[in-house]
Amino acid sequence: MKILVAGGAGYIGSCCTEYLLDRGHEVVVFDALLKGHRDAVDPRATFLLGHLGDPAAVTAAVAAHRPEGIIHFAAFIEVGESMQDPGKYFRNNVACGINLLDAAVAHGVRKVVFSSTAAVYGMPRTIPIPESEPTRPVNAYGESKLIFERMLAWYGTIHGLQSAALRYFNAAGATERCGEDHDPESHLIPIVMQVAEGKRDRVRIFGTDYPTPDGTCIRDYIHVTDLAQAHLLALDSEECGSFNLGSGTGHSVRDIIDTVREVTGHPVPVLEAERRPGDPPRLISDSTRARQVLGWHPEHDSIGDIVESAWRWRRRFPDGYRK
Ligand code: UDP
Repeated sequence: MKILVAGGAGYIGSCCTEYLLDRGHEVVVFDALLKGHRDAVDPRATFLLGHLGDPAAVTAAVAAHRPEGIIHFAAFIEVGESMQDPGKYFRNNVACGINLLDAAVAHGVRKVVFSSTAAVYGMPRTIPIPESEPTRPVNAYGESKLIFERMLAWYGTIHGLQSAALRYFNAAGATERCGEDHDPESHLIPIVMQVAEGKRDRVRIFGTDYPTPDGTCIRDYIHVTDLAQAHLLALDSEECGSFNLGSGTGHSVRDIIDTVREVTGHPVPVLEAERRPGDPPRLISDSTRARQVLGWHPEHDSIGDIVESAWRWRRRFPDGYRK
């Protein structure tokens, strides 16, 4: 299958591109390199430098390559920033993506798979969270993803465009050549590793008084290759709608820090800090729908393995990608 990957130079997009190529698919990466890295793009992919906000560039890419499927990863992902500058998020994550959907309809793309997030649930009441849980985002980032999901459904109703919105829980881990390199880094696992490497003094634990066994927030960490597998299954499937993607297991912030200490053999000093606004105490996925409907079988079920894969990548690329 020929697949256009928008945002294929980012963390999850580059891992997914590699996964698709390894399975014999043809991949065209479309990326503005605002946050992504040129070196993250697998050399077997065709690379197009372009911004989704440029309708001519998007249309030209889709018209020239005629992909059967599109995977849309291109988005800003900083929750904190989205609460300071919501316009940046609605413009980029919502408005720019409309060009991609219009081009998909104009050029007969069969299916769009969209990178969504557990942040669409806000403060969920049901744990593990099924897709039927009400969507009530508590930040502009989550709202931007939810709006795009709703637009996708309308493109389905009106134009017959098939789509699947994959609601990721906490993406983590790395492949041999693709890993996580954000600037600024705000995610827990890479930050704890930076402490283990001596690049930061200590990790701040955001809140130690949550109603959880050790007082710190619990998240569902899922290996990036397992996410990639779900994208291919979603493209192949006729099924549409939203799918949660998580392991179904929760790990606290302290669990993650302990795991990084074990995997790296390095000390990780911590600082107990205030809660970060907008953090739900527990987010754990009920991914039954993805398993049953898409036939998804995540393969990495140990947090130690996930952290180890990320650590291997960091030792191979101590400074991340070339800047
Ligand atoms: N976290 C933390 N210190 C950090 C970064 C994150 O304690 O320096 C916590 C954060 O509050 C959350 C969990 O780690 O409870 C996972 O955060 P991350 O930003 O990695 O992902 P999120 O769950 O926000 O998508």
